[in-house]
Amino acid sequence: MRNIKKIFGLSAAALFAALMVLVSCVALRSASVVPVLMYHSFQVEEDSLIPCVSPEIFADQMEFLAKNHYNVVGPDKVIAYMTGKEKMPAKTVAITADDGYYNFYENAYPILKKYNLPATFFIVTDKIGVSGYLGWKELREMSDSGLITIGSHTRSHPWIPSVSVDEKRLWSELAGSKEILEKGLGRPVFFLCYPSGAFNDLAKNTAKEAGYKGAFTTNPARKSDINDIYAIRRIKMSSTSVNPVILWGKISRYYAWFKERR
Ligand SMILES: [Zn+2]
Repeated sequence: MRNIKKIFGLSAAALFAALMVLVSCVALRSASVVPVLMYHSFQVEEDSLIPCVSPEIFADQMEFLAKNHYNVVGPDKVIAYMTGKEKMPAKTVAITADDGYYNFYENAYPILKKYNLPATFFIVTDKIGVSGYLGWKELREMSDSGLITIGSHTRSHPWIPSVSVDEKRLWSELAGSKEILEKGLGRPVFFLCYPSGAFNDLAKNTAKEAGYKGAFTTNPARKSDINDIYAIRRIKMSSTSVNPVILWGKISRYYAWFKERR
C-alpha cells in the first residue's frame, strides 16, 4: 500500500512538473515576438528633437547582427510569424526607420547593402523632396533594390487619436499616403507606421480597410495584444544600444514582453 502511495505520489509530481513545463512553454510562446528595431535619423550630431544613431554605431549594430548570423526579415515575415503562418529561427529580427530623412539613404542604406540586411522605411509623403528628406529618385532606387520595403508614415505625421475625430482626414492620412507612394514607386504599399506610435481602434480598422496588411507602433504598453498585426511593437534603438550585452537583450524575443511587465 505504501508503495502504491509512493508511486502515485511520484507520478502526480511528474505530471505536475510536466504540466508546469507545458504551461511555461505556452506562456513563453505567447510572449515571443520577432523583435522589430526602430530607428529615426542616422547622423553624427546629437539632436534633442530627433532620436539619432551615428552611422558608425549603426554600422557596429549591423555588423553584430551579420556576424552573429541573425535572420533579418522584412515586415511580411514578422506578420507571418505573428499570425502563426511561419516559424522563424530564434535569432530573427526586423529593422525599421521612420520619417524619411535623407541621411537614411546616405548613411544607413550603404551599410544595409554591405551586409545584405533588409529594412523597412516609413515615409511621410508630404515631406518627399523637401530639404533634409528623401526624394522620389532615392526612394525608387531603394525600393527597386528589393532590400528596402517602403511603408507609409501618413501624409503629414499627425497625432492619430486627435485626427480620428475627422474620419475623412484619417482616411486621407492613411489611404491617401498609401496611394501617393504606390503611384510614385509603381508597386503596392502594404505597411503603415503610426506617427509617434499613437493609434486607436478606429485607426486600426481604417488601416485594414485601406488595404494595409499590418501597422507598426512603438510600445503600446499592454494596450493591445502582443500578436496584434495592426499594433506591431518596436524597440527604440539608440547610440547606447551598441554595448553587445544591451544589444543582445534588446533583440531577444521576450524584451517587449518583459519591458511591459517591469
Ligand atoms: Zn515619425
